[in-house]
Amino acid sequence: MKRTFMIFTATLLAPLAALSAAGALAGSSPVVPVETAQRVAVRFHLVTDLAMAKQGVAMTNWLTPEMIAKTVMPEVNRIWSAAKIEWTLSGVGSATTRSGNRAEVIAYLLKAARDSEGQGDPERIRKLQSILNVEQEDARAVNIYVIPYLGGTSQGNATPRQKRVLLGQWTDKPSRGERPPEKCLLVERGEFQQGSFSRTVAHELGHILGLPHPARNAPPFHRLMGGRDPGNDLTDEEKATARKTAAAFSSKSKQP
Ligand SMILES: [Zn+2]
Repeated sequence: MKRTFMIFTATLLAPLAALSAAGALAGSSPVVPVETAQRVAVRFHLVTDLAMAKQGVAMTNWLTPEMIAKTVMPEVNRIWSAAKIEWTLSGVGSATTRSGNRAEVIAYLLKAARDSEGQGDPERIRKLQSILNVEQEDARAVNIYVIPYLGGTSQGNATPRQKRVLLGQWTDKPSRGERPPEKCLLVERGEFQQGSFSRTVAHELGHILGLPHPARNAPPFHRLMGGRDPGNDLTDEEKATARKTAAAFSSKSKQP
């Protein structure tokens, strides 16, 4: 705990963050709210032409704009409220891919696997990115593409440089690929068990804000960014890093 705090204070730059640290010292719920919410826009693109089938399961889109607005976003914001970051929905649209080698990309996704260290195959992300129609992107927002299935027991991927996230609606992660893919849970109430679509969105947005995965056995546990016994928590250091990145996004988007 002490060590985390020292790293945190060393990275303090803004006076507001210093006030927050003072609040953290006094207890977990400071009497006076010392920070205002940092807002970051997200735009969802539901990709409509990547239907695929694995182990007899036909995987198509089942998420609706209403589910995203009414269920996913409130859960993502519930998780991120601890960092006083608010994600605002700039819209949910449908998107298509370039037809060129769509069939080849789908075939590649379906056979993709993790390597011996559990890392997803980065080539499948490069291939997917290469067929996305990105003309509809909102340049001021994080653009989130929702496809039926991301391959290799993965549920999400983030490319911070492009502020772009890829997400699957079907998953074989809970069974580590041993059972056919099934629909993701939209939200997981209570303790983390297998991870929901909403939590995956929140996790990938953490990467967009500059947060890496923690070392597997390094406490504290129950963290949004992973490690042992994952959950929804953010450390003080992660909150500070995420707020700093979010602030940089909003100052950039205010420029003409
Ligand atoms: Zn991750």
